Amino acid sequence: MKYAIFGDIHGNLEAFQAVLEHAAQQGCSDHVCVGDIVGYGANPRECLDLVRKMGCPVVKGNHDEEAVLETSLEGLNPLARQAMEWTRAQLDPDDRAFLKSLKLVRQVRDFTIVHATLDTPGSWTYVINKFDAMASFSYQFTQLCFYGHTHTPRIYVKGDMVEPIDAMSVKLEMGRKYFINIGSTGQPRDGDWRASYAIYDAPSQEVVIHRIEYDIDTAQDKILEAGLPEMLAHRLSVGK
Ligand code: ZN
Repeated sequence: MKYAIFGDIHGNLEAFQAVLEHAAQQGCSDHVCVGDIVGYGANPRECLDLVRKMGCPVVKGNHDEEAVLETSLEGLNPLARQAMEWTRAQLDPDDRAFLKSLKLVRQVRDFTIVHATLDTPGSWTYVINKFDAMASFSYQFTQLCFYGHTHTPRIYVKGDMVEPIDAMSVKLEMGRKYFINIGSTGQPRDGDWRASYAIYDAPSQEVVIHRIEYDIDTAQDKILEAGLPEMLAHRLSVGK
């Protein structure tokens, strides 16, 4: 069984479709989403529809949560606030009910999925170094866990110590645990503009993070046409 694992789609339909197409070509039979389907991009509803149609396991991201809150957006920076106000206005009651129903952590077969961290999943803190990863590993009860949130792919391995590895693929070994950031499909921030997602090949116990080119011009044009901040279009081409 081959799983396509994606997240931080952020309403970027072109990137999401390219990822799904690539996953199908690779023979993926199952889909899994680590959250942040909406926010920033111009097609939150279309991305939500695709995820719902697949009926795949999904966990909630901070943007998914924020998009259905009725609270004011005073605390956010002006860019995030403008994008979130726009996103909130797009969603219909069904979209909101779906996003509200999402859980923070889920187990899928033999692995776990979470958006941000396993130690404090609802506080939306970031795993940016091995100490953050260590904290999360203490709450990881499966060998493998996939997460997102930082928009930067990274593979942490826990053997005697916890360390990130300098690779975008890993073969799972007995006695070790893996906490794998699959990167962002719709708004990468590691300096590479291409959409990111992972394939977990369960029979061969291998995880590979893939980078996929997509129609970035259309995604950017839609952001500008929607009247969303120009910066959100620009950052897609620099992957930041
Ligand atoms: Zn995100």
